[in-house]
Amino acid sequence: MLSDTWAEISLDRMRENMRNIRKSLPNSVKVMAVVKANGYGHGDMESAAAAEQAGADYLAVAYLEEAVRLRDAGMKLPILVLTPIRPELTPLALKLDLALTVTSANWFAETRAYKPYSSAGKLRVHVKLDTGLGRIGIRTRREWDELVPWLRAEDVEVDGFYTHFATAGQAETAFLERQTARFARMMEWGRSSGLRIRHYHCAGSAAALRFPHLAMDMVRIGAAMYGFYPERLVRSVKLEPALSLHSRLIQVKRLAKGDYLGYDNSYRAEEDEWIGTVPIGYADGWTQRMQGTEVLIEGQRAPIVGKICMDQLMVKLPGPCVEGARVTLIGHQGEQRITFAELAAHIGSVAQEISASLGVRVTRIYTDTEEVHAKWDAQIRRNENKQAVI
Ligand SMILES: *Cc1c(COP(=O)(O)O)cnc(C)c1O
Repeated sequence: MLSDTWAEISLDRMRENMRNIRKSLPNSVKVMAVVKANGYGHGDMESAAAAEQAGADYLAVAYLEEAVRLRDAGMKLPILVLTPIRPELTPLALKLDLALTVTSANWFAETRAYKPYSSAGKLRVHVKLDTGLGRIGIRTRREWDELVPWLRAEDVEVDGFYTHFATAGQAETAFLERQTARFARMMEWGRSSGLRIRHYHCAGSAAALRFPHLAMDMVRIGAAMYGFYPERLVRSVKLEPALSLHSRLIQVKRLAKGDYLGYDNSYRAEEDEWIGTVPIGYADGWTQRMQGTEVLIEGQRAPIVGKICMDQLMVKLPGPCVEGARVTLIGHQGEQRITFAELAAHIGSVAQEISASLGVRVTRIYTDTEEVHAKWDAQIRRNENKQAVI
């Protein structure tokens, strides 16, 4: 490993989380593992393989290129692309046997130019309904009625009909109930259309774990598989974060009282102080919003001081620590622990923003031996599949 900053990832933990989630749901419910954004920063192929080993039935990614990467690596599970793709890319999606999210009749009309009715292969789609998130999906009965003729085509398979909640992680449930009621009405559109619709689904991690009756035919599990769950909610299922983040002190120096540190003189030593420099910065995902948080060194908390730079940050050390000492940004050293929850609260966001932001320069180290096999498997399958993918 060349880099001094690395994430340690336990795929055992991810499998364990996934198995616990699975156990909490009725057997008939399918589990779709969401591995978008490089598996929320944990590695896309590794996360997908871990999910598959733990019994996931389906995968989901946000963008087409993410699905291409998974197929290229040999992943055989069904994959749903959660964001609509450009019509001209439909042939590629068909070739890779992907399920596509549909949000308009226009999309179908345009797609037909690229996928003539006569061509082989069914176009597998999940219709997205907007029940209140206001992001993507159809909102009105008219939009649905316009879609139906396209969905009836014999080379189209309606694999899913789904929506997404805006407030599933909030203690207050009134809005979630409103969305649920809206979705129930929309499901009637689906049921009364005579179309064969395979899966109705609405729940992501929080909804699936809090309200098992919302699991319907399938749940879409991202955050919880990686061990994330809203802090304020009681968790019914045991989940542990799979990732910890570490670096090393690359320099230790002494500042005299009154000395400045950081861009824009953003910190001034209040006394004679020991300062350590850590090679992680905002280009690695440790954004300037992390200013004011702490790291662990020699089992003690040390505050980040000054503005976080692109490639480095500085910390106020408890004393003259040795250069090369391990710095833990997420995880524990001895009794001390820095949690995703603590950092997420500080930046006013959620744990997954932190893990998903970890940049390409942060080396991912998989700590379980089984993973090594998965990696080799993937590599072998990648080579076998080279021909299959354009
Ligand atoms: C990202 C995403 C999910 C996964 O949500 P989690 O809360 O991480 O489980 C599910 N559904 C859709 C549509 C998503 O975009």
